[in-house]
Amino acid sequence: MIFSIGEILIDFIAKEEGSLKKVSTFEKHAGGAPANVTVGLVRLKTLAALISKVGADPFGEFLVEQLEKEGVNINYIRFDKEKHTGVVFVQLIGAKPEFILYDGVAYFNLKIDDIDFSFLEKASLLHFGSVLFAREPSRSTVFEVIKRAKGKIPISYDVNIRLDLWRGREEDMIKDIEKALSFADIVKIGDGELEFLENHGVDLESFNFKLMAVTKGERGSEIIHGEIKTEVPSYRVEPVDTTGAGDAFMAALLSALWHMDKLEHLELNEEELLRVGRFANLVAALSTLRRGAWSVPRAEELKEYKEAREVLIRTELRP
Ligand code: ATP
Repeated sequence: MIFSIGEILIDFIAKEEGSLKKVSTFEKHAGGAPANVTVGLVRLKTLAALISKVGADPFGEFLVEQLEKEGVNINYIRFDKEKHTGVVFVQLIGAKPEFILYDGVAYFNLKIDDIDFSFLEKASLLHFGSVLFAREPSRSTVFEVIKRAKGKIPISYDVNIRLDLWRGREEDMIKDIEKALSFADIVKIGDGELEFLENHGVDLESFNFKLMAVTKGERGSEIIHGEIKTEVPSYRVEPVDTTGAGDAFMAALLSALWHMDKLEHLELNEEELLRVGRFANLVAALSTLRRGAWSVPRAEELKEYKEAREVLIRTELRP
């Protein structure tokens, strides 16, 4: 089972385009990058669980119910009696999202006592992002969890920079990202984020990742694995909403590695790497055709795509 640790929240997506100042109606969607990845994994026939915290309130109940409906293992989600479920307001400028994240919410209140460490015996990989580093106690909790997982199972990290959460503390953010990178075996990063980190003196080549994927929006992605560097062109679509495209890519990447039985050793040749990249680009592109962040197509919907048939080997989609 693949475990993700991190935020789950309500995305309120503006129904009209333009500034939040003018927008008057919002659509309620489940979101939060690690939650999106978890749902994507399950839709791609990979067992997945989420370690997180929601408020003991109607939004928290809604989110856990939605996860359960998707088939995600919810045994590691806690209900917080002190803090409310996280919410985000999202505006779509063209199909591109902008976020306003709120503080003092349940996922930032994830404590070490909330973690059932027996998950490590069931996990084939641990995935995390950067959001929970922005506040305590979630920051210390996630670092402790990845520290205990290191060496036992592969660790995957989506850098996912949300500068808004770090106003006035950019240096702290960069230090935390560097620390997180030092634990990671698999890294996913957007090309803009890569440039940002490089401009702030972070040398990505100095880390020992086994695999790094750089996502480039409509230009596709680049996957780096040891000496192999592969540019993978995007799958052409007319996006409606790119919220969660990166998370869809992440889910597809991890799912492909699991289906191809490469998670444990993470050793791939160039052809296998290209297969993984083409699949991740396909799934991410198709996810932009639906609104909301839980927009990964289910494995059954991918039968017509060669890029999917050659990866989803552990399902009835086997060629
Ligand atoms: P986030 O979702 O947080 O913005 P990200 O920066 O990783 O994450 P992108 O690089 O925009 O996201 O997109 C991830 C992947 O989704 C790309 O590598 C690509 O495969 C696919 N994708 C995104 N936008 C498009 C597009 N306009 N057309 C085709 N594919 C796209």
